Amino acid sequence: MTDILSQRCPLHILIAEDNQLNWRILQRILKKLGYESEVVENGLEAVRAVEAALADAQPYDLILMDIQMPIMDGITATQEIFSRFPIDQQPQVVIVTANATPEYVEICQQIGTHGLIQKPINKQGIADTLESCYLGSRKT
Ligand SMILES: [Mg+2]
Repeated sequence: MTDILSQRCPLHILIAEDNQLNWRILQRILKKLGYESEVVENGLEAVRAVEAALADAQPYDLILMDIQMPIMDGITATQEIFSRFPIDQQPQVVIVTANATPEYVEICQQIGTHGLIQKPINKQGIADTLESCYLGSRKT
């Protein structure tokens, strides 16, 4: 019997990634783990999507956030989300980057992201991250 991660760890997930090949791969991995996800292609759209989802009472639990995107980068978008919305309404943010330099790791810790995933992504790495986010987001 297959263990469907999404049944054990349900999460509403947003992908913020400007590279179509990258977001298609990520979305396919999420699908295999049982998750539907929405995609936006820049940081400003991510902020707006969080706002819209809250207005619809369907808040995101997690954003998988690229750093380098047009219009607004992922770091700025994350800071905007964390400053604009009340803490109990904020999604967790995991940065997904090909460029996990020590500097970026430190920035991610400073701004309060849940973690950082190094590209190229793989199914196990994503699954581990989702499980960790789910466990971390449970408010008991
Ligand atoms: Mg990018």
